[in-house]
Amino acid sequence: MTISAEALRELHRFHRQLTDLRNRLELGPKQIRASEANVSRANDQVNEAKNTLTKAKVTTDDKQLQLKQREDRITELNNKLNMANSNKEYQALKEQIAADEQANSVLSDEILESLEIIDGLTATQAQAQAELDKANDELNKTTGRVQEKQPMLESELRRVTAELKEAEAILPSDFKMDYERVSKARGEDALAQVEGEVCGHCFHMLSPQSMNELLMAKPVFCKSCGSLLYLAEDASP
Ligand SMILES: [Zn+2]
Repeated sequence: MTISAEALRELHRFHRQLTDLRNRLELGPKQIRASEANVSRANDQVNEAKNTLTKAKVTTDDKQLQLKQREDRITELNNKLNMANSNKEYQALKEQIAADEQANSVLSDEILESLEIIDGLTATQAQAQAELDKANDELNKTTGRVQEKQPMLESELRRVTAELKEAEAILPSDFKMDYERVSKARGEDALAQVEGEVCGHCFHMLSPQSMNELLMAKPVFCKSCGSLLYLAEDASP
């Protein structure tokens, strides 16, 4: 039973192409999932920014309402002041007005501060929205790119699978079972090219007997890693 290094080299090439195509086919959906995760994260940030802004606006509106109510009360107290019947009543009203004015001054400062915070939060929300738009755009682009590429990769995969089958069909039948066992278990690592006198997969030094068998085109498996060995093109007799 003999099997040429050329035939094994070709098998190895098909296996490597299949590995590469499968990796590229898996990469597309992975890229889409990563883009989807980015969109979801950006969306969470937009929602969080919106909620924070809404809460800040509600608080500020409350404070503005409180300020207005207290201003109305001050007007009312001032009217009463003009109609005060006694000095005691006049003084009491004066004190209340002073207290309300003091409270409103504090409140006005707080409102100004809140309005500044709202400006900041509005900017944050706009930025989060821009990030979300960008993430959505990226997702669309990735999805488009992957959808465009997948059919081509799938047809390549079918083509190379058929080519591999064809190449496998001409293997000697008494060798086929050994080959299929290792090919099924290890894919492209089922085969290894001999580099000098070592296995190209695990770098195990080959015995002179193994080297002789390889030169006689006999099937040789690496005694260390089990790869099916073949000689490099320039090493063939
Ligand atoms: Zn090896």
